Amino acid sequence: MGNRQGALTDMTQITRDFRGQWMQQEPMSRHTTWKIGGPADLFAIPADEADLAGLIRRCREKGIPWMVVGNGSNLLVADKGIRGVVIHLGRAFSDRRLDDRRLTAGGGCALSGLARFAVRAGLQGLEFACGIPASLGGAVAMNAGAHGGAMENIVRWVDVIDDEGRIRRYRGEEMDFAYRHSRLQREKAIVVRVGMELRWGDREALERWMEEKLALRRKSQPLEFPNAGSVFLNPPGSLSAGQLIEEAGMKGFAIGGAQVSERHANFIVNRGGATAADVLALIDAVRARVLATCGIELQSEVRVIGDSGGQVDGGGTEDSHQRG
Ligand SMILES: Cc1cc2nc3c(=O)[nH]c(=O)nc-3n(C[C@H](O)[C@H](O)[C@H](O)COP(=O)(O)OP(=O)(O)OC[C@H]3O[C@@H](n4cnc5c(N)ncnc54)[C@H](O)[C@@H]3O)c2cc1C
Repeated sequence: MGNRQGALTDMTQITRDFRGQWMQQEPMSRHTTWKIGGPADLFAIPADEADLAGLIRRCREKGIPWMVVGNGSNLLVADKGIRGVVIHLGRAFSDRRLDDRRLTAGGGCALSGLARFAVRAGLQGLEFACGIPASLGGAVAMNAGAHGGAMENIVRWVDVIDDEGRIRRYRGEEMDFAYRHSRLQREKAIVVRVGMELRWGDREALERWMEEKLALRRKSQPLEFPNAGSVFLNPPGSLSAGQLIEEAGMKGFAIGGAQVSERHANFIVNRGGATAADVLALIDAVRARVLATCGIELQSEVRVIGDSGGQVDGGGTEDSHQRG
């Protein structure tokens, strides 16, 4: 991609045959739960799978970088935004189907809604996800988990569209799932459909369990401020990242509009007007203080993406990187 004007000209070429919705210079702060992030050159919501595949092929032909975002609940987007195309799976990818204990759903489904859907059908295995504000595709990419459950336990296969616009199916064992990790963090591919296998359970008991966990989240998490959930991975050992941050005296510490939550030390909240630069500086400050006081190097769980000054190349989830 050449200069900015060149990029926009190329965008017109690739949107010509696009049947979905698209916006130019779309503020990513509208698409992240932190409410932070500069504009994406093009924000595209494909009409269906063929439209998505065509868009990817045209990006490839024109050398325009692309990446996919889900619900933006684990993303820090740079203040300068994202050069290239940001793809978001909308309602066209939100179908769900139940066949006995097998649940098949589109990558754009809301994870918490899917958890409730499964529980209403008396199925167990996805209820852990009731309080996770993710899309199904993002949850698979991140191997989201909570309360002892995780996507890796229930995912049997994943259909993706790869960087050449081809559909491929990965079996669960091929996904390289590990703690908050999957192969999709190093591979350029978009989850369009997921096959899960659940087990029969007691609907009322599952509903009660979910309500308890949601109440616990409301009590322990600063949900009144924009946030991206836990910022750091729990390191091996007995202390959680939150406990280490608290021990290091960083609870409440702020840089600009970004603050280590007073309620949950592993959350960074946007107290108003926080920039990506504020959050990055705060992440670095927390890591340095925890290392100095506890001797443990925290790794960030959040995906940092976008234009931090130079040209961003690549795409998919590949040009996003984890700090730490
Ligand atoms: C209040 C709150 C509570 C949270 N609690 C938890 C929790 O309990 N457990 C937990 O694990 N996480 C939690 N999170 C973090 C977050 O919800 C998860 O990491 C989630 O998996 C991110 O999904 P997303 O759709 O928002 O993805 P995004 O944040 O949009 O993207 C995350 C990554 O996934 C990739 N991606 C997104 N969609 C696709 C797709 N269709 N195909 C391929 N790659 C894709 C993106 O490129 C990016 O690299 C919480 C976040 C918040 C704000």
